[in-house]
Amino acid sequence: MNREPKTAEILCVGTELLMGNTVNTNATAIAQGLAEAGLNLYHQGVVGDNPQRLREALELALSRADVVITTGGLGPTYDDLTKETVAETLGRKLVPHEESVRWVEEYFRRLGRTPCPNNQKQAMMPEGATVFQNHNGTAPGCAVTGTGRWERKTAILLPGPPRECEPMFREQVLPYLRGESGSRLVSRSLYFYGIGESDLAQKLDRLMRESKNPTVAPYCKPGEVMLRVTARVEEGEDPAPILDPVVEEIRREAGEWLYGVNVGNLQTALVHTLLAKGLTVATAESCTGGLVAQRITSVPGASSAFEWGAVTYSCRTKHGMLGVSQKTLDKYGAVSVQTAMAMAHRARVKSGADIAVSVTGNAGPEPSEGKPVGLVYIGLESEKRTSVQEMHIRATESGGREYIRELAASRALYLALQEAKLWVK
Ligand code: ATP
Ligand code: MG
Repeated sequence: MNREPKTAEILCVGTELLMGNTVNTNATAIAQGLAEAGLNLYHQGVVGDNPQRLREALELALSRADVVITTGGLGPTYDDLTKETVAETLGRKLVPHEESVRWVEEYFRRLGRTPCPNNQKQAMMPEGATVFQNHNGTAPGCAVTGTGRWERKTAILLPGPPRECEPMFREQVLPYLRGESGSRLVSRSLYFYGIGESDLAQKLDRLMRESKNPTVAPYCKPGEVMLRVTARVEEGEDPAPILDPVVEEIRREAGEWLYGVNVGNLQTALVHTLLAKGLTVATAESCTGGLVAQRITSVPGASSAFEWGAVTYSCRTKHGMLGVSQKTLDKYGAVSVQTAMAMAHRARVKSGADIAVSVTGNAGPEPSEGKPVGLVYIGLESEKRTSVQEMHIRATESGGREYIRELAASRALYLALQEAKLWVK
């Protein structure tokens, strides 16, 4: 089945429309509905009640659209030619449609009248058509696919009166179109930290290669990989039975690096976890210059999870503002395990937050204090734990400094997230 969005074309039939005696409200209603249903609409047309010109207009529409929707000309009178013309063009015979025959009879019985032969004509439908009952009149509508040259094309025929056309379109045609082409795409995004794209791809090689529904596709950005698992489902179909087994298999293979599903990014995962557990975080940053705080505060709702962040870029402020002891700074330097630990500790003490993270490092371009470019320490302190991680970030030629800062900030966010996940509150 072709799952690409289909193209549709509207062709309204009626001399009164052509002459401007009737405003073409059907086209407006149908166009709006098609847009909502996600079909592409490139042309609309109006043609009079003339079989020759109707056929020409129809062939032109069929030549450039997947679905041609006509309105009008389904009635019982001599000038109602749409069904005959469409059936002939598509190579379909008109045959009595049993349900419609009964329906027309029933309709007239309710009105206390008997149907005339012309009404019986309304119960004739192109062979193989999907019939749409008319709940507000007698002429049923239908959807019919072509033969031969028009094999891949569908014509949908609707009655002209808006009070018949519009409900039929909304209640029956739109669901039909969704069912035809209208598979939906449903995705789960799995976010990984601490594993490269190629390592992840290797672990999930078979899955990524063989999965057709759902598909598994990787997207990477510095320090992170996102896997998007995408299922195509029919309208109304539950995507969980398609998605869940694959997500579970990925968890089994690479669960230790998976930090969230549909979380968006590290900072959002962090803030949401903090909010869910009623925790707060504080930051003390040097080489990232506030990037960690910036990323946390970019998340809506962060105000309840983040109260306090310090950018202490110089040793003077690390000591004077944050309260890192001068002795520590003198002895170990600004870029050191000890300073990172002290920064996290002081941030937690000063802010009263549950978790504090610190970043100190050399983002380059030149070595400083004899410390190489890309050496970064991330400190973390909570009531329960103290830790420091050492990173050696190999800066790429382009954007080396920014790359180091970005990666360092991500690690700080990740450590805070890991810590927050361990809390039970
Ligand atoms: P009927 O059974 O009433 O003959 P039909 O399907 O044959 O219905 P037409 O005869 O083409 O439809 O049109 C019936 C009436 O519906 C028109 O006189 C006009 O008032 C209205 N109508 C038709 N087409 C449109 C349109 N595109 N937009 C708005 N009104 C329309
Ligand atoms: Mg008519």
